[in-house]
Amino acid sequence: MKRVLNQLPDLGYLNLGGAEEVFYQLTPAQLVQAALKRNEGSLADSGALAIDTGKFTGRSPKDRFIVEDDVTRNTVWWGDVNIKFDPAKFDTLYNKMTAYLSGRPFFVRDACACANEKYHLDVRVITETAYQNLFVHHLFIRPEVVDAKSKPEWTVIAAPGFMADPAIDGTRQENFSIINFSRKMILVGGTGYTGEIKKGIFSVLNFILPHDKKVLSMHCSANVGPEGDTAVFFGLSGTGKTTLSADPQRNLIGDDEHGWSDYSIFNFEGGCYAKCVNLTAESEPQIFNAIRFGSLLENINFYKGTSRVNFADVEKTENTRVSYPLNYINNAVIPSIGASPKNIFFLTADAFGILPPISKLTPEQAMYYFISGYTAKVAGTEHGVVHPEATFSACFGKAFLPLHPITYARLLGHKIKEHDVNVWLVNTGWTGGAFGTGKRMRLKYTRAMITAALNGQLDNVHFEPHHIFNVNIPLSCPHVPDNILNPRKTWANPDEYDERASELAALFVKNFEQYAKYSTAEILNAGPAVTISV
Ligand code: ATP
Ligand code: MN
Repeated sequence: MKRVLNQLPDLGYLNLGGAEEVFYQLTPAQLVQAALKRNEGSLADSGALAIDTGKFTGRSPKDRFIVEDDVTRNTVWWGDVNIKFDPAKFDTLYNKMTAYLSGRPFFVRDACACANEKYHLDVRVITETAYQNLFVHHLFIRPEVVDAKSKPEWTVIAAPGFMADPAIDGTRQENFSIINFSRKMILVGGTGYTGEIKKGIFSVLNFILPHDKKVLSMHCSANVGPEGDTAVFFGLSGTGKTTLSADPQRNLIGDDEHGWSDYSIFNFEGGCYAKCVNLTAESEPQIFNAIRFGSLLENINFYKGTSRVNFADVEKTENTRVSYPLNYINNAVIPSIGASPKNIFFLTADAFGILPPISKLTPEQAMYYFISGYTAKVAGTEHGVVHPEATFSACFGKAFLPLHPITYARLLGHKIKEHDVNVWLVNTGWTGGAFGTGKRMRLKYTRAMITAALNGQLDNVHFEPHHIFNVNIPLSCPHVPDNILNPRKTWANPDEYDERASELAALFVKNFEQYAKYSTAEILNAGPAVTISV
């Protein structure tokens, strides 16, 4: 090794002897400098570092594997979410990756996951680029002291420039993300998308916590009110977890990954990873103001000839992102722990415009909608016509769940009953018609509905059941026009609404068939009322 910046970490347990330069535990400023020097990106006028992640601007779920071994063989829910990988192939790939890194400079960072000390997981992340290491600084919890000489429990190696050879290495294509529970190691190659690193460790925790420790792990954001009441927001990508948890009236616990142990919930992470598309200071002030020196912007464009970010520009991707440490949000809770939640919100971005903007769920309905994990994407077709597409992702995060979804659902069901939690279904998606006809629910109304639910202002209003989905819709809500609360009334043609609503209900029923044998009659009956004609 020719040059080491700061201390030399113990890499003896890895095959990384011949490295040119090793940069250990650099500060954000040093990482920003390194990134600029290496031409990884440039500074925006706000001081944030802007980089491009390359070919991949999102995760690649089809290239995410788990090594089949004694730990995973009979525990993991194998299939197209958790794809099997051969242990010998992993070892070969590992040797190739470490040989690749040994010939060049790399960055090492010791960090940890889980704000609750009882569940701390020490993680060492080795990255080929400086920007990835900055991301790790932000998204993982920053330990006060690190011991360079110690061997951490888990190791992640992420090298965007390393390409697998699918024919030899057993991958699907050049890029991959592989979790090995026996070796406690994650290999990420061929992709520079930072989200792969955080979602890798999330998947690990989604195995360890429920399986070994009986702690529920959740794909959700969380915040806490002035009275100490915690709220949790589940939802798939783009449904509003990050946006809605950033609430100036409440303190932020975290925006994406949490655990729920006996009496408290805790963040797995030390920072946020927010979508930037169409971001404005007016509608999302906290996130906007977090974009400053140290923050990492991904795949944005500047206004021509300037270093001012054009948040409306989606030329590289719709999934433009910014990451920053939790303390960049001024009312963050650190360490990020809160009491068991009083309210749980299931967020869905229903592009069909069918589900009510807010409704209250019974405990059985909560189980049904949690297991269903519905949202709708807006997808393009070959003719350039854009139409909505239903997505069902169990527990609002199937892609990150190594165990069968019912494991998580049962844990949640017990906790909802034990803590007498209010559960709400919130549609942050379309109103007045499907995508194309209607429009997205205004953020200020969604925020008002959530505030009303949290402040108990919906406790004494009248509710009416939805005629197909059975969920209970409030007839009024402070600061929200009454006529948008029932979606049927927002459509130009209510008969068409009924028709489309029945179609969506049929999709729910069809999707739920695979979970029927794990469910009770009460949960099955809590789904939409629908007669499917064959
Ligand atoms: P991920 O899991 O990918 O991090 P997320 O659930 O955190 O996704 P957000 O980053 O909060 O999703 O994205 C929600 C996006 O939708 C934001 O760009 C936000 O501005 C936009 N949006 C528009 N209308 C609403 C609404 N009514 N409620 C919530 N978000 C809305
Ligand atoms: Mn988010």
